Amino acid sequence: MRLVFLGPPGAGKGTQAQRICAERGIPQISTGDLFRAALAAGTKLGLEAKAFMDRGELVPDGVVCGMVAERLAKQDAASGFILDGFPRTVAQADALDAVLQKMGQPLLACVDFVVERSELIRRLTRRLTCRKCGAVYNTDALPPKAAGLCDRCGGEVYVRDDDRPETVERRLKEYDAKTAAVSGYYAGRGLLRQVNAARSLADVAVELDRLIARP
Ligand code: AMP
Repeated sequence: MRLVFLGPPGAGKGTQAQRICAERGIPQISTGDLFRAALAAGTKLGLEAKAFMDRGELVPDGVVCGMVAERLAKQDAASGFILDGFPRTVAQADALDAVLQKMGQPLLACVDFVVERSELIRRLTRRLTCRKCGAVYNTDALPPKAAGLCDRCGGEVYVRDDDRPETVERRLKEYDAKTAAVSGYYAGRGLLRQVNAARSLADVAVELDRLIARP
């Protein structure tokens, strides 16, 4: 199963990808998580990405595409993957297409998570993220079982700097300017599937599972 999860920040891509990947034993490849891990490890890649992330802007395509190509070449991605937060530009979608073609592993579908703006802002300002494993929580809909600690790994959960209101606005603008067009790219290839992601986690999960079974 090779899927792309597309949609604005806060649409629930990470939460659903986390669940499906755990159930099916395939990796969730989140470019945001890869950048945060690189930053925590103090690598050149992490430092390069930091300035863009802090401003709520996209990291340049060349940097992101190289990182994803490397990640897809790892053994655990051979049986499938969910790309969460990539591609975010048409150029990235083209680069992904080229890599997957070379590997002989075409995409099954691109799932577009559709949610209106006011709901995205509400969710992002309530989001908590595990510093250690990247698991995502929400103070309303999905709080961690023990306050401040990740259910999965016991790491510290925190509010990402870029989930603060000023940066959220900038990220949503970037989405409209650069990422929204990616849905047209996949629609043109007959791969786009839209999901009404404004509903509860459980309802979205049911629709997604149905869609994955019959893409
Ligand atoms: P995310 O965790 O998906 O919300 O990503 C956090 C930040 O990482 C974004 O606001 C961008 O600065 C950067 N980023 C993540 N994925 C990409 C991508 N595919 N292209 C460019 N920048 C990205």
